[in-house]
Amino acid sequence: MTSYTVLNPATEQPVTTVPQASAEVTDAAIARATAAQRAWRANPPGERAALLRAFAAQVDAHAEELAALEVANSGHPISAARWEAGQVRDVLTYYSAAPERLTGRQIPVPGGLDVTFKEPVGVVGLIVPWNFPMPILSWGMAPALAAGCTVIAKPAELTPLTALRIGELASQAGLPDGVFQVLAGKGSVVGQRLVDHPDVRKIVFTGSTEVGQQIMAGCARHVKRLTLELGGKSANIVFADADIEKAAATAPYAVFDNAGQDCCARSRILVQRSAFDRFMELLEPAVKGVQVGDPRSGRTQMGPLISASHRDNVAKYVPDGAPVAFRGNTPAGPGYWFPPTVLAPVSMAAPVYTEEVFGPVVTVTPFDDEADAIALANDTPYGLSGSLWTRDVGRAIRVARAVETGNLSVNSHSSVRYWTPFGGFKQSGLGRELGPDALDAFTEVKNVFIATD
Ligand code: NDP
Repeated sequence: MTSYTVLNPATEQPVTTVPQASAEVTDAAIARATAAQRAWRANPPGERAALLRAFAAQVDAHAEELAALEVANSGHPISAARWEAGQVRDVLTYYSAAPERLTGRQIPVPGGLDVTFKEPVGVVGLIVPWNFPMPILSWGMAPALAAGCTVIAKPAELTPLTALRIGELASQAGLPDGVFQVLAGKGSVVGQRLVDHPDVRKIVFTGSTEVGQQIMAGCARHVKRLTLELGGKSANIVFADADIEKAAATAPYAVFDNAGQDCCARSRILVQRSAFDRFMELLEPAVKGVQVGDPRSGRTQMGPLISASHRDNVAKYVPDGAPVAFRGNTPAGPGYWFPPTVLAPVSMAAPVYTEEVFGPVVTVTPFDDEADAIALANDTPYGLSGSLWTRDVGRAIRVARAVETGNLSVNSHSSVRYWTPFGGFKQSGLGRELGPDALDAFTEVKNVFIATD
């Protein structure tokens, strides 16, 4: 069996070595998940709900340990990592209410009655990226388990540690063998096998658009169900009538959160021309004030990038001579650091303006009026997130409706909330996760006609 050495991105030192599953090991896991699914779906809904609550309690009891693991594996600041562990607990708790509310419908038909059932799709393959190892795992895992599916999760090769521990906590909570398994390994081996194996009935994938396209093609061979959460190039639109102070003060958090390694990063700031200079004056101290450093410190707001090769990719977007307006700091010494960087003015043909950077780099571009702002925001193949700032309620609603994106915030930099649906327009993905309807993605509707004549 091959193994992978996990590096701490803040120190470049090895953390631990993780065995990598092979295609044969993946097949054996799929067989276990298939066998376990029959009993799991037949479990009384109240028992399935109780087991999910017990799982949430285990995560809660080990939240500090999970947070510390994420700090070491992913370089996330400890305050963010604690929030992420709490998110796993909260998402499990939220969906633990679902098994007992998984109701169908009664439809009037001649000659009898028709009832619908929501049947679990079966074994789910959950392919998780390295940027948010805990939350993204929970967004697929919790509703799938609640729906009566069994789950095989494949964390990213770079960041397997919290997922592996969460898998152990599921067993300690009493989830039956085979109901939730975590397989560390390469995407091209374990992930590919989950896509290709006919007994895996649904894939949930979050990651790059390129790999998402390959997975979609692979799923097509089996007409396999699929949810895709892919890239983004989202806009933060600031109108001149907005609270410019607040918009500028929070803009760094809309793009530099998780060092910009966030599919929802609002990495194109669009500012109405008459407020542009004022916005830039206010943005500069906000960016320079972002605390970049040791992720173990409670004061740190931004940690390192995930790997040396990813830092090289990000750096390509800021070549020598790039129009750097201002940038923040990084610590000296080892670690894959990259400073928060603001570019302006930027050509709209520049890769940093058109492509997902997935690092702490943002462009600021002026616009003239509402129509111009909407056209600029929509001038991208992506449509995942976005923010807009204005005091005009009518404009807020008009622009929010016109921007082609799945998730928008008005006068706020927040993005994903587990109570509301999350997913993308255009090339940002397919389907929705989270929110009250998430179980629809893990169930098939069956209708049964019962003759009464
Ligand atoms: P990938 O899309 O390559 O990886 C995401 C997940 O898919 C990982 O678990 C990966 O496994 C797995 N995977 C890779 N190849 C296959 C395959 N053929 N079949 C099944 N699963 C596979 O993202 P990267 O890590 O390479 O990141 C590249 C870029 O993608 C980033 O710079 C960013 O732009 C974007 N990205 C977007 C994310 C988002 O949240 N929308 C998240 C992560 C990346 P493994 O890691 O083991 O190869």
